[in-house]
Formats: sequence, C-alpha cells, structure tokens
Amino acid sequence: MSAQAPQRHALVTGSAGFIGFHLCQRLLADGWQVTGLDGMTPYYDVTLKQRRHALLADHPAFTPVEGMLETPGLVADLAAGRDCLIHLAAQAGVRHSIDAPRSYVTANLIGAHEVLEAARSAKPSHLLIASTSSVYGANTAMPYAERHAADHPLSFYAATKKAGEAMAHSYAHLYSIPTTMFRFFTVYGPWGRPDMALFKFTKAILAGDEIDIYNHGYMRRDFTYVSDLIEGICRLIALPPRAPAGPADNLSPVAPYRIVNIGNGAPVGLMEFVQAVEQATGRPARKRLLPMQPGDVPETWADATLIEALTGPLPRTDIRDGVRRFVDWYRDYYGV
Ligand code: NAD
Repeated sequence: MSAQAPQRHALVTGSAGFIGFHLCQRLLADGWQVTGLDGMTPYYDVTLKQRRHALLADHPAFTPVEGMLETPGLVADLAAGRDCLIHLAAQAGVRHSIDAPRSYVTANLIGAHEVLEAARSAKPSHLLIASTSSVYGANTAMPYAERHAADHPLSFYAATKKAGEAMAHSYAHLYSIPTTMFRFFTVYGPWGRPDMALFKFTKAILAGDEIDIYNHGYMRRDFTYVSDLIEGICRLIALPPRAPAGPADNLSPVAPYRIVNIGNGAPVGLMEFVQAVEQATGRPARKRLLPMQPGDVPETWADATLIEALTGPLPRTDIRDGVRRFVDWYRDYYGV
C-alpha cells in the first residue's frame, strides 16, 4: 500500500475576488487545503464577494479569513507553515485609480509589503503574485513581452503594480524567496467583476440602456477566459523559478524571480467583443461613442512564448464561448 502524499496548504489573498474565487475552487478540487484572506473592500458589490466566499466555505478544506492585508502581522500569521502563497488581493481598476489613488497605496504597496514580510518569515516553496498587463503602459512594441522594459505606466494603478514587482524582486534577492510575478491580461468569465466591460455591457444591454464605447471603438484587448488563466496559474505553481527556460525567459540574474504574462495571445477588437455580447444576450447594443479615457491604452496583446515554454500549450477559450458562459451566469445569478 502506498503512503498518501501530505495535503498541500496554500494561502490565497483576495479569495473573495473574481480570480481568487476561481483559483480557490480549482485548488480545492485538486486536493489542496486553502486558507483564503479577503478584506471584502467596498470597491464593488460586497454581496458578490460574500457569495463567492460562502460557496468556497462549503468545502471542508477551505478556511475563510476576513481581514485587511495591511493589518501588521496578519498575513504573516496566516502564512506560517503554508507551502505556497498566492497574492491576488489588490485595489484593481485603471479608471478608479484616477479618482481614489490613496486606496492603491494602501493595498498595493503597504499591503503587498506585508505579503513579502510574510514570505520572508514563512519561507514558502513558492510565492506567486498578481501584476497586470497595465504595467506595459506606453509601450508600443506588440505583442507585449516580459523582456521588454516597462518603464512608462499611464495609470496610478499600473504604477503601484510596477512598484510591487520591484519590491518583490528585492525580497526574492535578499531572502531567496522563489517568486513568480504574473501579468494578467483582461480576465473575464462567470462571477466576473462589476467594474469591467463585460459585466457593464451585459447589464446595460439586458436593461435596454446605452453602453459606453471608448476611443470610438478603436480598442483591442487580449481577453483571457478565467479558467484558461487558472490553468496557467496552477501549472506555474509547480514551477518555482530556478533555471532559465529559453530565450524568452527574463529570470533574474540575481534572484529566483521571473515575470510571466498570462494572456490569450490573440487580441479582439472592441466592436467584435460587443457583437459577442449582443449574440449571447440576443439583443442589440445601443452604443455611445466616446473618446479615449485618461490612463487607458488602445491595445493589449500578450506574448505567450514564455508561459508556453514553461507550461506547454494552454487552453484558449474562444471569445464567443467565454462571453456566452458569462451571460448565462449573469442571467442565472441576477434572475434576468
Ligand atoms: P477583485 O477586485 O475581484 O479581487 C481582489 C480582492 O482583493 C477583492 O475581493 C478585495 O476585497 C480584496 N482586497 C482588496 N484590497 C484588499 C486589502 N487591502 N486587504 C485585503 N483584501 C483586499 O479583482 P480580480 O479581478 O480578482 O483581480 C485579482 C488580481 O489580479 C489583482 O491583483 C488584480 O490587480 C490582478 N489583475 C486582474 C485583472 C483582471 O482582468 N481581472 C487583470 C490584470 C491584473
């Protein structure tokens, strides 16, 4: 009889958030024990966050904790003895960072520093942290590759995420913490965020309201379906940075630290995206064409060479299928 492998235990921050919820579901299905920390911040509907956490709490291997990252020592207490720390909690949103920059300092700088301190004391086998495609900012070379310099953020959100990357690199170097930094590209799917385009478009189209189309529709986004993203994250958990993974790698020369894009690698035009929502809802959109918003970029496109060198080919859900699954969830959840 073979002895059973001990159950691995992860600490996930932002577990009541959109991506954290899906990641925790997947880790629990894969047999992990999971502690999930979330501050239930009021940036968007707290009930949605509570519903996500309540669903996770149905699983006996999930321990929900409500608390703020920046509470001194809280993350360190929860991280003790964990095999893996996955830090997703953040103040997200490009546009909101223009109106409320202070909340980005608290969550993304002070909060992120608490996570690094926690990793310093807990010494997990792998620390994985969410950054964003927004750090590519004013870059025009496409697709966005991790080895390109990303020194010109256009929003304060991007600036705090870029600062988080630099802080994590210094901790990886000083304290030998194996660290993978993800740059996510416009993630969408069921249980998605109310501040993001797919949620807003679906809600408005079903209600017969107008939708705001920025830059007069001349935008492209590398939309990434949430379960494709989660597959990428889960494969990377098993790959703490050690040896270079070929010419696309940006493994630090002085630390066990690398940055990895997780994106679909195929940008979709905004009007094509709206058509997918129209098809899925069965209703035409009433469009209000507007100029570009400050802090925004016209296009994102992930170079997926590095992640595929590390993990092998990943699933890539077609935009029409992914949008349909979101709209089905939305109708069911809100009873529309
Ligand atoms: P989300 O807002 O749904 O989840 C973040 C969670 O963190 C929320 O539940 C919130 O309550 C919690 N939180 C925020 N500040 C906190 C604090 N100070 N202390 C404790 N908890 C706090 O966002 P998401 O879309 O799930 O994003 C997850 C991560 O991925 C974030 O780091 C975000 O910046 C990054 N990201 C997301 C996308 C995307 O398209 N969704 C794209 C790029 C990067």
